Amino acid sequence: MSARRIVVLGRQGAGKGTQCALLVESTGIVHVSTGDMLRAAVAAGTELGQKADAVMKAGELVSDEIMIGIVAERLAEADIMEHGVLLDGFPRTPSQADALEEILHGQGVELDAAINIDVPIEEVTARMMARGREDDTAEGIARRLELYEQQTAPLLQWFADHNKLVVVDGLGTEDEIFARIEAIL
Ligand code: AMP
Repeated sequence: MSARRIVVLGRQGAGKGTQCALLVESTGIVHVSTGDMLRAAVAAGTELGQKADAVMKAGELVSDEIMIGIVAERLAEADIMEHGVLLDGFPRTPSQADALEEILHGQGVELDAAINIDVPIEEVTARMMARGREDDTAEGIARRLELYEQQTAPLLQWFADHNKLVVVDGLGTEDEIFARIEAIL
Protein backbone atom coordinates (compact mmCIF):
# COMPACT_ATOMS: atom_id res chain seq x y z
CA MET A 1 0.00 0.00 0.00
CA SER A 2 1.38 3.40 -0.91
CA ALA A 3 2.10 5.98 1.79
CA ARG A 4 -1.04 7.78 2.82
CA ARG A 5 -1.66 10.83 4.93
CA ILE A 6 -4.80 10.54 6.97
CA VAL A 7 -6.26 12.63 9.77
CA VAL A 8 -8.54 10.89 12.24
CA LEU A 9 -11.13 12.84 14.21
CA GLY A 10 -13.70 11.82 16.77
CA ARG A 11 -15.08 12.69 20.16
CA GLN A 12 -13.51 11.15 23.23
CA GLY A 13 -15.05 7.73 23.60
CA ALA A 14 -15.73 7.39 19.85
CA GLY A 15 -13.25 4.52 19.51
CA LYS A 16 -10.52 6.50 17.79
CA GLY A 17 -7.73 4.76 19.69
CA THR A 18 -9.00 1.31 18.80
CA GLN A 19 -9.47 2.16 15.13
CA CYS A 20 -6.02 3.75 14.91
CA ALA A 21 -4.48 0.59 16.34
CA LEU A 22 -6.36 -1.60 13.84
CA LEU A 23 -5.26 0.62 10.95
CA VAL A 24 -1.63 0.54 12.04
CA GLU A 25 -1.79 -3.23 12.28
CA SER A 26 -3.35 -3.74 8.86
CA THR A 27 -1.53 -1.06 6.84
CA GLY A 28 1.79 -0.35 8.61
CA ILE A 29 0.93 3.35 8.57
CA VAL A 30 2.73 5.40 11.25
CA HIS A 31 0.49 6.60 14.09
CA VAL A 32 1.32 10.10 15.29
CA SER A 33 -0.61 11.28 18.34
CA THR A 34 0.34 14.81 19.33
CA GLY A 35 -1.17 14.21 22.79
CA ASP A 36 1.18 11.22 23.23
CA MET A 37 4.14 13.26 21.99
CA LEU A 38 3.38 16.04 24.46
CA ARG A 39 2.85 13.63 27.36
CA ALA A 40 6.21 12.02 26.55
CA ALA A 41 7.85 15.46 26.54
CA VAL A 42 6.28 16.28 29.91
CA ALA A 43 7.45 12.96 31.35
CA ALA A 44 10.97 13.54 30.02
CA GLY A 45 11.03 17.09 31.38
CA THR A 46 12.19 18.61 28.10
CA GLU A 47 11.86 22.32 27.39
CA LEU A 48 8.75 21.59 25.36
CA GLY A 49 7.37 19.44 28.14
CA GLN A 50 7.86 22.20 30.68
CA LYS A 51 5.99 24.64 28.44
CA ALA A 52 3.18 22.20 27.65
CA ASP A 53 2.57 20.83 31.14
CA ALA A 54 0.50 23.67 32.62
CA VAL A 55 -1.39 24.25 29.38
CA MET A 56 -2.40 20.60 29.18
CA LYS A 57 -3.41 20.45 32.82
CA ALA A 58 -5.69 23.44 32.26
CA GLY A 59 -7.27 21.60 29.32
CA GLU A 60 -6.16 24.34 26.96
CA LEU A 61 -4.39 24.10 23.64
CA VAL A 62 -0.64 24.32 23.20
CA SER A 63 0.15 27.19 20.81
CA ASP A 64 -0.18 26.65 17.08
CA GLU A 65 3.41 27.75 16.58
CA ILE A 66 4.80 25.05 18.88
CA MET A 67 2.50 22.34 17.56
CA ILE A 68 3.17 23.12 13.91
CA GLY A 69 6.92 23.02 14.55
CA ILE A 70 6.72 19.62 16.25
CA VAL A 71 4.54 18.10 13.57
CA ALA A 72 6.55 19.54 10.67
CA GLU A 73 9.68 17.90 12.08
CA ARG A 74 7.98 14.58 12.66
CA LEU A 75 6.41 14.47 9.18
CA ALA A 76 9.82 14.83 7.56
CA GLU A 77 11.14 11.63 9.14
CA ALA A 78 11.94 8.62 6.99
CA ASP A 79 9.38 6.18 8.45
CA ILE A 80 6.52 8.50 7.55
CA MET A 81 7.87 9.31 4.11
CA GLU A 82 7.90 5.55 3.50
CA HIS A 83 4.77 4.31 5.26
CA GLY A 84 2.53 7.36 5.52
CA VAL A 85 0.96 8.88 8.60
CA LEU A 86 -2.19 8.63 10.64
CA LEU A 87 -2.51 11.95 12.45
CA ASP A 88 -4.39 11.79 15.74
CA GLY A 89 -4.96 15.00 17.73
CA PHE A 90 -3.57 17.24 14.98
CA PRO A 91 -4.76 19.50 13.47
CA ARG A 92 -6.86 20.97 16.28
CA THR A 93 -7.40 24.43 14.76
CA PRO A 94 -7.98 25.71 11.23
CA SER A 95 -4.56 27.38 11.23
CA GLN A 96 -2.95 24.03 12.11
CA ALA A 97 -4.90 22.58 9.18
CA ASP A 98 -3.58 25.30 6.87
CA ALA A 99 -0.05 24.56 8.08
CA LEU A 100 -0.51 20.83 7.53
CA GLU A 101 -1.59 21.48 3.96
CA GLU A 102 1.51 23.61 3.41
CA ILE A 103 3.87 21.08 4.97
CA LEU A 104 2.49 18.27 2.80
CA HIS A 105 2.53 20.49 -0.28
CA GLY A 106 6.20 21.19 0.41
CA GLN A 107 6.80 17.42 0.37
CA GLY A 108 4.98 17.08 -2.95
CA VAL A 109 2.13 15.08 -1.41
CA GLU A 110 -1.32 15.83 -0.06
CA LEU A 111 -3.77 14.77 2.60
CA ASP A 112 -5.78 11.75 1.48
CA ALA A 113 -8.66 12.10 3.91
CA ALA A 114 -9.87 13.34 7.26
CA ILE A 115 -11.97 10.58 8.77
CA ASN A 116 -14.49 11.61 11.40
CA ILE A 117 -15.61 8.66 13.50
CA ASP A 118 -19.04 9.93 14.36
CA VAL A 119 -20.69 8.86 17.61
CA PRO A 120 -23.46 11.04 19.07
CA ILE A 121 -22.78 12.94 22.29
CA GLU A 122 -25.35 10.93 24.28
CA GLU A 123 -23.65 7.67 23.29
CA VAL A 124 -20.05 8.74 24.08
CA THR A 125 -21.28 10.14 27.39
CA ALA A 126 -22.87 6.80 28.27
CA ARG A 127 -19.68 4.94 27.25
CA MET A 128 -17.46 7.17 29.38
CA MET A 129 -19.79 6.95 32.37
CA ALA A 130 -19.73 3.17 32.04
CA ARG A 131 -15.95 2.96 32.14
CA GLY A 132 -16.05 4.72 35.51
CA ARG A 133 -12.64 6.36 35.49
CA GLU A 134 -11.94 8.82 38.26
CA ASP A 135 -11.96 11.85 35.93
CA ASP A 136 -15.14 10.61 34.24
CA THR A 137 -17.62 12.55 36.32
CA ALA A 138 -20.73 13.74 34.49
CA GLU A 139 -19.45 17.29 34.76
CA GLY A 140 -15.94 16.50 33.60
CA ILE A 141 -17.21 14.53 30.64
CA ALA A 142 -19.60 17.31 29.62
CA ARG A 143 -16.80 19.87 29.86
CA ARG A 144 -14.39 17.86 27.70
CA LEU A 145 -17.06 17.16 25.10
CA GLU A 146 -18.05 20.82 25.00
CA LEU A 147 -14.43 21.84 24.42
CA TYR A 148 -14.13 19.28 21.65
CA GLU A 149 -17.26 20.66 20.02
CA GLN A 150 -15.93 24.22 20.17
CA GLN A 151 -12.53 23.27 18.79
CA THR A 152 -13.57 20.76 16.22
CA ALA A 153 -16.66 22.16 14.55
CA PRO A 154 -14.60 24.72 12.58
CA LEU A 155 -12.14 21.99 11.63
CA LEU A 156 -14.84 19.74 10.24
CA GLN A 157 -15.94 22.66 8.11
CA TRP A 158 -12.34 23.23 6.99
CA PHE A 159 -11.97 19.64 5.83
CA ALA A 160 -15.40 19.69 4.19
CA ASP A 161 -14.46 22.89 2.31
CA HIS A 162 -11.28 21.18 1.12
CA ASN A 163 -13.18 18.06 0.04
CA LYS A 164 -11.29 15.86 2.48
CA LEU A 165 -13.93 15.07 5.07
CA VAL A 166 -15.28 11.54 5.31
CA VAL A 167 -17.81 10.79 8.04
CA VAL A 168 -17.87 7.22 9.32
CA ASP A 169 -20.77 5.98 11.41
CA GLY A 170 -19.10 5.07 14.71
CA LEU A 171 -21.99 3.02 16.06
CA GLY A 172 -21.52 -0.73 15.92
CA THR A 173 -18.84 -3.26 16.77
CA GLU A 174 -15.13 -2.46 16.41
CA ASP A 175 -14.96 -4.76 13.39
CA GLU A 176 -17.96 -3.16 11.71
CA ILE A 177 -16.50 0.30 12.11
CA PHE A 178 -13.10 -0.84 10.91
CA ALA A 179 -14.71 -2.37 7.82
CA ARG A 180 -16.32 1.01 7.07
CA ILE A 181 -12.97 2.75 7.34
CA GLU A 182 -11.23 0.16 5.16
CA ALA A 183 -13.94 0.57 2.55
CA ILE A 184 -13.09 4.28 2.30
CA LEU A 185 -9.37 3.71 2.04
P1 AMP B 1 -5.10 14.54 23.39
O1 AMP B 1 -4.42 13.33 23.95
O2 AMP B 1 -5.12 14.55 21.89
O3 AMP B 1 -6.47 14.77 23.97
O4 AMP B 1 -4.21 15.80 23.82
C1 AMP B 1 -3.98 16.10 25.17
C2 AMP B 1 -3.64 17.58 25.33
O5 AMP B 1 -2.47 17.90 24.59
C3 AMP B 1 -4.70 18.53 24.78
O6 AMP B 1 -5.70 18.78 25.73
C4 AMP B 1 -3.88 19.77 24.48
O7 AMP B 1 -3.57 20.49 25.65
C5 AMP B 1 -2.59 19.18 23.97
N1 AMP B 1 -2.61 18.98 22.48
C6 AMP B 1 -2.56 17.80 21.81
N2 AMP B 1 -2.59 18.01 20.48
C7 AMP B 1 -2.65 19.35 20.31
C8 AMP B 1 -2.73 20.20 19.18
N3 AMP B 1 -2.76 19.71 17.92
N4 AMP B 1 -2.79 21.55 19.38
C9 AMP B 1 -2.78 22.06 20.63
N5 AMP B 1 -2.72 21.32 21.74
C10 AMP B 1 -2.66 19.98 21.59
